[in-house]
Amino acid sequence: MGQRTALITGASRGIGKACVEALAAAGHRVVLAARSVEKLEAVAAEMRASGPDTLVVEMDLSVSESIVNGIAKVVKEFGRIEILVNNAGITKDGLAVRMREEDWEAVLRTNLSGSFYAIQQVLPGMMRERWGRIVNISSVVGEMGNPGQANYVASKAGLIGLTKAIAKEVASRNITVNAVAPGFIETDMTTGLKDELKQRIIEETPLKRMGTSQDIANAVKFLVSDDASFITGHVLDVNGGIYM
Ligand code: NAP
Repeated sequence: MGQRTALITGASRGIGKACVEALAAAGHRVVLAARSVEKLEAVAAEMRASGPDTLVVEMDLSVSESIVNGIAKVVKEFGRIEILVNNAGITKDGLAVRMREEDWEAVLRTNLSGSFYAIQQVLPGMMRERWGRIVNISSVVGEMGNPGQANYVASKAGLIGLTKAIAKEVASRNITVNAVAPGFIETDMTTGLKDELKQRIIEETPLKRMGTSQDIANAVKFLVSDDASFITGHVLDVNGGIYM
């Protein structure tokens, strides 16, 4: 496969950073997006040390204007974006009865609307080139539900619907759109979980461990590769078997 330009959102740590490393290792030019440019630059410096072309772009996925401006900057620099990994995501947990409107809105805006606006910005270029790969990072809880996360679960289930709708819209242009649904992965997002809860999750996981960011990046690397050219609208579970 030739070198493609891949934009990864939420690229400064965790799953996003692992995707950057995996796609760069696969020979792609990587563009790192998130709110904190400083943290992105630290990741980019590691990448540049080993060679690949890397660009950092400040982007707040909760603000559509920021997405439009960020992607325009990438297109100006690299010509086009051929691979989009919608990975940036946040949680603001709480029981539904007490959930504040701002917490509902913030999670939906960042995780779901942000992904949609990013897709909207990259699609015209992909359609012109008749080649594109989009991977949306959903979650196992978007498939099975989870108490205390109505906003997050709705956003992740929404991403699965979005994946399928866009997959059908752009298939004729040779653009594939898939989702990866991680189980419980060791990252900053889950370090705050109580040890007792982590133990319970591990016990309920047939493969008896939490996942790593690399487990998810491996799935993303496959879905954007030429080997996955006949796969679209799919939700790939990478969850150790906790939900089948
Ligand atoms: P993480 O360690 O918390 O990292 C989140 C990344 O998203 C950071 O780079 C962060 O950078 C960026 N981000 C947050 N809000 C943003 C915004 N408004 N605009 C742009 N970037 C933003 O998360 P993770 O655990 O790696 O998770 C990555 C994705 O996988 C998320 O979508 C998450 O929902 C999903 N997931 C995770 C797990 C898990 O167990 N960890 C399980 C299932 C699904 P800045 O703060 O600098 O913006």
